[in-house]
Amino acid sequence: MNTDILSEKIKSLKTSATLAMAAKARELKADGIDVIGLSLGEPDFNTPDFIKEAAINAINENYNSYTPVDGYQDLKKAIQLKFKRDNNLDYNLGQITVSTGAKQALYNIASALLNPGDEVILPCPYWVSYSDIVGLCGGTPVEVQTSISEDFKMTAEQLENAITPKTKMLWYSSPCNPSGSVYSKEELRAIADVLQKYPNIVVVSDEIYEHINFRGGHFSMAAFDDMFDRTVTVNGVSKAFAMTGWRIGYIGAPEYIAKACTKLQGQVTSGANCIAQRAVITALEAPKENIQYMVDEFAHRREVILDLLNNTEGFECNTPEGAFYVFPNVSAWFGKTVKGRVISNASDFSMLLLEEAHVATVTGEAFGNPDCIRISYAASEAQIREAIKRIKEVLG
Ligand code: PMP
Ligand code: GLU
Repeated sequence: MNTDILSEKIKSLKTSATLAMAAKARELKADGIDVIGLSLGEPDFNTPDFIKEAAINAINENYNSYTPVDGYQDLKKAIQLKFKRDNNLDYNLGQITVSTGAKQALYNIASALLNPGDEVILPCPYWVSYSDIVGLCGGTPVEVQTSISEDFKMTAEQLENAITPKTKMLWYSSPCNPSGSVYSKEELRAIADVLQKYPNIVVVSDEIYEHINFRGGHFSMAAFDDMFDRTVTVNGVSKAFAMTGWRIGYIGAPEYIAKACTKLQGQVTSGANCIAQRAVITALEAPKENIQYMVDEFAHRREVILDLLNNTEGFECNTPEGAFYVFPNVSAWFGKTVKGRVISNASDFSMLLLEEAHVATVTGEAFGNPDCIRISYAASEAQIREAIKRIKEVLG
C-alpha cells in the first residue's frame, strides 16, 4: 500500500516523544531487560480507593448512556466549586467544558481558535504536545528560549519581543512540565501587564500540576480581573489524583471558547466517559488532604533525586518547585564519547542512558530545549536511587 496517501498533516505530525519513549521502555522490558522507566509523566500511585468506589457505584447505578457533550451538570458544578475554592475563579456553568483528558481540551482550544499562520507563543521548555497540537491545527509555534539561571521562566521582556501582529495565543504550564518551574503571582502580573497592550491575545494556562506544588501558592492567570475574559484555564485529574487512564480534563474559559470546544467534541468524541465523570465528582469534592500523601512523597523524592544528580558529573539542575520532573542540562557531555558512542546532543544522551544504563528518560529536544533531558521522579525511591547509580556507572 502506498503510504503517501496519508494526509500531509499526519505525515508531518511527530509521535509524542514521551509516549514513544515509554513504549520503547516497555518493549525492552518485554525482552527481559530490567529497564527503569523515568520517562513517562504518570504518578506511580494507584487511584485512591474513595474514587474507585465512586466509579464502582456509578456502574451499579447504571451510568452507561451517552453523557452531555460538555459534561454532566453535577460534575460541572463540582468543577465550578473547585475553581472557586482553589483558584478564586468565578466561572458560570456555560464557561466549563469537560473533555477526554486535558490533552483533548488543549486540542479543542487550538482547533477552535487557530487559522493558518496564527502564531502561538510557547515559552521553552514546554510540554511536548503543545507544539504538535498547534501545528496540527494550522498554527505556528513560536518558541521563546528561557535559561536555567532564570529558572526556565519567560520574562515580560521576552514575551514583548516575541509578540507579532500574528500572535493569537500564549500557552504555558505552571507548575511546568518539564522544568517544574512555578510562576509566582508577581511574575504572572508582569506577563499580564505586557498583554494589556495586545487585547486580542488569548492565554492558555495549563494548571494540571496545580496540587503538586512544593512552594505553595499556586496562582491562576485568570484570577487577575483584567485577564479573566481572555484566559482559558486548563486542568484535569490525571496527575494529582493518579487518574491518568481515566481520561478526564476540563477548562474554564470565556463562554464563546467553551461553547466552541463543546461543538467540536460533539462531532468528534461526544461527551467524556460516564463512569470516569462520576468518579471525578467524588475526587474534586474531597478535601485536598486526601491526596496530600502523594504530594508529600513527590516532595521527598525531589530531594532525593536532586541530591543524587547534583553529585553527578555534568548534570546541572534547577530546583523544580512543582510537578514531578527534573530537567537537567547535560550539555557538558556533548562532544564526549561514552561506551564507544559519540554524544552530540540530548537525544544521543537519552539513548545512551536507555541502552547502556537501562534507564528511560526523554530528550529535551521534545520540549524545545536541546541541552536538557527530562527525568520523571514518579517512581519509587529505590528505583530512583538505582537509576542514578546505573547512570553514574555508565558515565564513569
Ligand atoms: N498538560 C500537561 C502539562 C501535561 O503534562 C499533561 C500530561 N499528560 C497533559 C496536559 C495532558 O493530561 P491528560 O490528557 O492526561 O489530562
Ligand atoms: N504528560 C505526561 C508526560 O509528559 C504523559 C504522557 C503524554 O501524555 O504525553 O509524560
